[in-house]
Amino acid sequence: EVGFNHVKKMYDGDIVAVEDFSLDIEDGEFVTIVGPSGSGKSTLLRMLAGLEDITGGEITIGDRVVNDIAAQDRNVAMVFQNYALYPHMTVRKNMSYGLKLTSDLDDEEITKRVEDAAEMMGIEDQLEKKPASLSGGQQQRVATGRAIVRDPDVFLMDEPLSNLDAKLRAHMRIELQRIQDDLETTTVYVTHDQEEALTMSDRVVILDQGELQQVGTPAEVFDEPANLFVADFIGSPS
Ligand code: ATP
Ligand code: MG
Repeated sequence: EVGFNHVKKMYDGDIVAVEDFSLDIEDGEFVTIVGPSGSGKSTLLRMLAGLEDITGGEITIGDRVVNDIAAQDRNVAMVFQNYALYPHMTVRKNMSYGLKLTSDLDDEEITKRVEDAAEMMGIEDQLEKKPASLSGGQQQRVATGRAIVRDPDVFLMDEPLSNLDAKLRAHMRIELQRIQDDLETTTVYVTHDQEEALTMSDRVVILDQGELQQVGTPAEVFDEPANLFVADFIGSPS
C-alpha cells in the first residue's frame, strides 16, 4: 500500500504547494485526486514517483519509506499528460526501453511483456511505427502500455486523457477501468474532471490550494460533501 504521512511541499522556499497531506491507499485501490489548477495534484503524484523532493513528512510504498529512494528504485510507473514518448524510437522501443534499463529481464521476456501489453492496449499493429505517425489516442495507449510493461507496484497517471476529444476520453475511461480490473494494480489518478473522478474511482481525494478537503467514495463526496468547496467542485445538488 501507499502512505502519505503529514507530507508537505514548498517550492523556492516560500510557495506552499502541499500542506500537511495524509492518506493511506490500499493495495489494488483506484484513488483519484481532483482539484482545480494549482491545487497540488501533480506535486503529490510527482513526490510519490520520486520526481520531486519532499519538504516534510513521509511517503511510504509497501513497508518502505521512499523519501530518499530514487525514482527508478520505487517500482512505480507514471503516465504523463503529454505522454512523454521518445520521438526517435519505435513504439516497441518506447515500451521496452525503461524495462531494459531498470530490470534484469532477458530480451525474450521483455519482448513478450511488450507484446502482451500492446495487445492489452490494442496497439499490437503499431509496434514498428514512430509516435509522430500515431493518432493522439494511439499515443495515449502507447504511454499506458509502457507503464503496464513495467508491472509496477503503483500506477500513477497525471491527467492521462485530457488531450483526447470527449468521445475518445469516455472510451478510454472505460478501457483504463478494465485494465485496472484485470491487473489490480494500485492506481493513483490525477484529473481536474470531476466526472472522471466520480465514475472511475474507489475513492476520491479532493484538494484545494494544497489542502485536503475530503476523502471518500464517489457516493460519499457527492452525497455528503464536507464543505461548500467540495459541493461546488463536485457539483452536488444543493
Ligand atoms: P494543474 O491542474 O494546473 O496541473 P496541479 O493541481 O497539478 O495543477 P501543481 O502543479 O501541483 O498543481 O502546483 C501546485 C502549486 O505549486 C502551484 O501553485 C504551482 O504554481 C506551484 N508549482 C508547481 N511546480 C512548481 C515548480 N517547479 N516551481 C515552483 N512552483 C511550482
Ligand atoms: Mg497538474
